[in-house]
Amino acid sequence: VLAAEPCAWLLGADRASLPVRTSAAHASHKGSFGDVAVLGGESTAATQMTGAALLAASAALHAGAGRVFVALLGNAPGMKVDPEQPELMFRSPDAVDMAHQVVVCGCGGGESVKTVLAKVLSTARRAVLDADALNAIAMDPQLQTQLKARQGRGYSTVLTPHPLEAARLMGITAVAVQADRLSAARQLAERFQCVVVLKGSGTVIATPGQATLVNNTGNALLATAGTGDVLAGMLGACLARGMNAVEAARSAVFAHGHGADTWASDRPGQALTASALAQSQTG
Ligand code: AMP
Ligand code: MG
Repeated sequence: VLAAEPCAWLLGADRASLPVRTSAAHASHKGSFGDVAVLGGESTAATQMTGAALLAASAALHAGAGRVFVALLGNAPGMKVDPEQPELMFRSPDAVDMAHQVVVCGCGGGESVKTVLAKVLSTARRAVLDADALNAIAMDPQLQTQLKARQGRGYSTVLTPHPLEAARLMGITAVAVQADRLSAARQLAERFQCVVVLKGSGTVIATPGQATLVNNTGNALLATAGTGDVLAGMLGACLARGMNAVEAARSAVFAHGHGADTWASDRPGQALTASALAQSQTG
């Protein structure tokens, strides 16, 4: 599979590390490092997925974004402050400045993500679309058309499907996606004119017209709830800090896996949590 078409391994911290935050940047202020807004974390009478949005937001903070906003979705009253992360600022989805902030949409978004997705696709100049945002797009041809149109408007988009989410977008099975991951990622990238991060062991990064990359960091400790949300938040921070979509994908995917590898060597036999992974990032 690897030899069938050009593809390269994503190797080495020098090629793909998170941009470092230095204490010596005297002229900087929080605006210098960009804003991330996480839209997700559905809360209804029946479901409570706030944690997914908080994990993405925490990862964005630790990866060095200047300010991180959280817009919880759903009709149940959401939280107004997270005592564990008082840096986070809570907003209603309507109050998110999508034109200027990097939007991370879909983590724990549930059905409620459908109430914001059309606006995200038409307004957010830089967007990371994950989880339920991808599931909603898979079911709605109009959203698919909107997604495809973003490239022509100069907007940046990173899609972060796991194999089942990719399968839904493609109308095939997850087994078929896994049978040729490179091809699946490339097809999605071409079809939607986006950077596609197809997650799983050996995460694939596909970009229209560019060489496909396979990440060689990460390990099975990542197979636990919330690690995908952490990756989405890290991607948001990389975009907020000025990287383009491909650079952001390379850096965030590499660093995310590297965090799990470092955990495995520092704490043999100990399970990794998504919170710990987010907090271990040093952007
Ligand atoms: P999600 O499925 O959205 O929760 O995302 C899971 C994250 O963990 C993705 O970044 C995957 O690439 C990563 N991951 C899950 N299982 C493995 C594994 N066995 N080896 C390496 N990475 C994994
Ligand atoms: Mg996920």
